[in-house]
Amino acid sequence: MSSFPWSGSNLPKQLFINNENSKKLEVYNPKDGSLLANDVALAGENEVDAAVAAAEAAFPAWKKISAAERRNLLLKLADLIEENSDKLAELTRLSLGAPFASFGSHEIKGTSEAYRYFAGWCDKFAGESYPQDDGFLKIVRNEPLGVTAGIVPWNGPTATAALKSAPALATGNCFILKPSEKTPFGALAFGSLIKEAGFPPGVFQVLSGDGSTGALLASHMKVRKISFTGSTATGRKIQEMAAKSNLKRITLELGGKSPAVVFDDANLENAIFWCVNAICGNTGQICFAASRVYVQEGIYDKFLEGYKKAMEERAKTIGDPDAAETLMGPIVDKLQFDRVSGFLERGRNQGTLLIGGSRVGDQGYFIEPTIFADVPEDAEICKQEIFGPVAIVNKFKTEEEIIAKANDTEYGLMAGVFTQDINRALRLSSEFDSGMVGVNCVSLAFLTTPFGGTKQSGTGRENAIHVLRQYTEPKTIMVNMTY
Ligand code: NAD
Repeated sequence: MSSFPWSGSNLPKQLFINNENSKKLEVYNPKDGSLLANDVALAGENEVDAAVAAAEAAFPAWKKISAAERRNLLLKLADLIEENSDKLAELTRLSLGAPFASFGSHEIKGTSEAYRYFAGWCDKFAGESYPQDDGFLKIVRNEPLGVTAGIVPWNGPTATAALKSAPALATGNCFILKPSEKTPFGALAFGSLIKEAGFPPGVFQVLSGDGSTGALLASHMKVRKISFTGSTATGRKIQEMAAKSNLKRITLELGGKSPAVVFDDANLENAIFWCVNAICGNTGQICFAASRVYVQEGIYDKFLEGYKKAMEERAKTIGDPDAAETLMGPIVDKLQFDRVSGFLERGRNQGTLLIGGSRVGDQGYFIEPTIFADVPEDAEICKQEIFGPVAIVNKFKTEEEIIAKANDTEYGLMAGVFTQDINRALRLSSEFDSGMVGVNCVSLAFLTTPFGGTKQSGTGRENAIHVLRQYTEPKTIMVNMTY
């Protein structure tokens, strides 16, 4: 049995390198706005330097341990996460507000699965070799980068941490995790599990902090790679800091304004199911949420009727995230709540408000599932990522028209097409300018396939073999076979 000490009444607040800092973070519970803690460690320059130095010191031995040993450590960590999944989910729920029955359980399962999946890669990410037909045997080795770091957002705090740390560690890198200042507890609790799993000191560390801590990592001369998930605005800064410091490698997983396109011949029930889940899952705080729904004119009225009904049903599941029956929780904090409320307010002048549009209750940061229809393509609510349970529904006539509208965005994370016509589905899949496309489904991801976006949705990919390439540098060795 793991000795996991953390719970809602004993919150983890210390950096995993066990240093102290006079500056502290305040963390709030979004279900009622109450203060959870005002003394969570905020890593400053000294702590970041100490963690990087510890990682540098650990790297030479870590990269040389056998793949089987690395695999076993990752598997052990996965087991410990699973063993403590209820408590870890509680730590996340307290500050994110994601109910266990919906996003909470899904996220924590995804976290342990990610460690298992990448554990499986440890001894399978082989290099290449090319024959000596020209007198030279060529060997390509996948070399780890050294000290790597992940800066993660609040909306899936443990899963995003796992999707970055697991491939980094599997390929022999040391890893420093910087969780979001809004949701640090799950990541900080990882500290005791990392130790219990048996990772050598310095290999996997956690530094809580805010943007200033992230900036220290992004501009650090000894950090060789940053994998960042968060807003496009911060992603831009990270790219700049990487360029201005040591040209560290970067992966950016940023925002989205993903379209779901429903054709006349679509299975209505299926299309509604996916479109509702896409925008209500995690209270719409999902980067690849299909937030623009385009429906062909022949099915438009029927779709709208069913979509409205299903969203209204979902609204009935809003409530206390700690209650077993709740499926939809609050928006993460006051800042985000005010931001989403601003879009709702201004949206009333941009399109027709069909349902929702208001706060639920007078305590905490709950918002109704909302649909705006007939929104001009250049309207703010059609162009900007809202990051709440707010969908735009517009009508279209032709395939040509909808391809142009779907792609008329600076984002390119996800797109969905709903139709029974396989040729049309494949035509659109090819035409969508996005990193991921769902056919008769939308807003989903798998560990086995690359995850990421085009245009300003980011650069690089997570998951599958693709992320392993982002954490390694190919090294070419040329052997003169005639010598
Ligand atoms: P954010 O950009 O504000 O913060 C993300 C992380 O970056 C946090 O840990 C924060 O402390 C850190 N940070 C902030 N300023 C920084 C700076 N100057 N230098 C270095 N680090 C800094 O984003 P957020 O509000 O936490 O998350 C919401 C955003 O994340 C949305 O735009 C959403 O679409 C995006 N997101 C993308 C994906 C994806 O995979 N594409 C997944 C989830 C969320």
